[in-house]
Amino acid sequence: MTQETGGFAALDLHPNIVAAVLATGYEEPSAIQQQSIPIILAGHDMIGQAQTGTGKTAAFALPILNKIDVSKREPQALILAPTRELALQVATAFETYAKQMPGVNVVAVYGGAPMGPQLRAIRNGAQIVVATPGRLCDHLRRDEKVLSTVQYLVLDEADEMLKLGFMDDLEVIFDAIPATRQTVLFSATLPSSIRSIAERHLREPKHVKIQSKTQTVTAIEQAHLMVHADQKIPAVLRLLEVEEFDALIAFVRTKQATLDLAAALEAKGYKAAALNGDIAQNQRERVIDSLKDGRLDIVVATDVAARGLDVPRITHVFNVDMPYDPESYVHRIGRTGRAGRDGRALLLVTPRERRMLQVIERVTGQKVAEARLPGPQAVLDARIKKLTASLAPLVAEAEATHGELFDRLTADLGCSARALSAALLRKATNGQSLDLAAVEREQPLVPTYTPRERTGERSDRGERSERGDRERRAPMPLAEGRVRCRTALGARDGIAAKNLLGAILNEGGLARDAIGRIQVRDSFSLVELPEEGLERLLSKLKDTRVAGKQLKLRRYRED
Ligand code: AMP
Repeated sequence: MTQETGGFAALDLHPNIVAAVLATGYEEPSAIQQQSIPIILAGHDMIGQAQTGTGKTAAFALPILNKIDVSKREPQALILAPTRELALQVATAFETYAKQMPGVNVVAVYGGAPMGPQLRAIRNGAQIVVATPGRLCDHLRRDEKVLSTVQYLVLDEADEMLKLGFMDDLEVIFDAIPATRQTVLFSATLPSSIRSIAERHLREPKHVKIQSKTQTVTAIEQAHLMVHADQKIPAVLRLLEVEEFDALIAFVRTKQATLDLAAALEAKGYKAAALNGDIAQNQRERVIDSLKDGRLDIVVATDVAARGLDVPRITHVFNVDMPYDPESYVHRIGRTGRAGRDGRALLLVTPRERRMLQVIERVTGQKVAEARLPGPQAVLDARIKKLTASLAPLVAEAEATHGELFDRLTADLGCSARALSAALLRKATNGQSLDLAAVEREQPLVPTYTPRERTGERSDRGERSERGDRERRAPMPLAEGRVRCRTALGARDGIAAKNLLGAILNEGGLARDAIGRIQVRDSFSLVELPEEGLERLLSKLKDTRVAGKQLKLRRYRED
């Protein structure tokens, strides 16, 4: 066992929980976990200021699992989450950490799915209920006792829940749970509305905040790229096509991720290796030596395994998984730009991790520019450039060594010099696509777009022409938990965005924050609304008229 796995073992968690966490590939607790777990285990109420990406889910899930009495088949812990996606994600995390605790049952409760099976699962002995507030209130209306055995309550992303208009639902839920419960609240921000909830519903809460000291970053060129979690490996492979690197270190969070990415890189012909806490010390040294002398070009590492790694050849750091805190970001990217050389650091950001990016920018006092995935033309140009570079030293001498053979082959094959050269090129490039149409077919990625995007702003690596194309193809991304709705009323009906906004706010009773972008087109309009409670909202708006005409808002699916 490495010293770091002692990190989890030292936290006083049940050995089966520690074993499950280690089996998941986590090597050491993140800062928020290190601080929150003992507090929650000790039974205190707690306010944790942390955003997605810090490891906050495990920070509450592990100690709560530790407290569950498996022999009792009734709800003991309730986790509230703002959206269905987050509720499912949290429920899955609980299941992962409870893998070695037979008898633990988790149920996810959210809108848009039938209520009956959810209620049955709760009654059939789920000890952990992960729910969105709106749907949970619907259940409470059917069975007001359903939460009467809950002893642990977690509000995850409390600020998001308020933004989505769940304040009243939260009050109903607080009232339905015994006052003797332990309450933990996680929120990225602590506006006065959250503080007031904490004052009214938490008892002498302990505060946990990951203090971030301002960090200085040396002259390393930094960029970030928005990408969905399941597209990280293809995104890395594509980026590598155009990045001119000497040696590169890619940071991921788990052992499994080091293995997966290293395998994908090797399969593409890169000289890559994984470095994680399972790798024995002598093997680790061998990997680092190989990176130093060029037998390896890419090392895929966890933070723990990369500790103390100092290789001057490193020109690039790829943060494939988000670091837990700005300090480790600064630490990671400090691996490049050594010895006065140029360095480049790239950070992949999933849509849910945008906040973490903002925190990094705030703490480092620097903007991390947005980069784009290189388009097919850029990939093709880079491939041809590499091919040209690999042939350049040969053309000077190969004629002397292979010229006669070439003459003989053209004679034997009865073909032109161009035909033979083309055949040799095809063989040498090993099936690699080297024309635009073929490269385009190879690239199935649909990049995501950030709200930061401003038209006309040049991204640092992308090409403007391709960007226009992609924008037409890819719809604007929706914020988590939002859906698009459509009305047949548009500009030609005399509608402006403010009329729609006013009608929905007044008649629908939503908070302004709950309504996203409104796009008014000539013959229709699109409005982004919260998915949670959508049916209720649409039925409230059933008879609403705008500019004298029926609004008739419907969910809009753009596939
Ligand atoms: P969260 O901030 O809870 O959304 O977690 C973000 C990601 O970090 C999830 O994919 C977790 O599986 C992962 N994660 C959480 N804690 C650790 C840890 N101690 N080591 C490695 N990965 C972790």
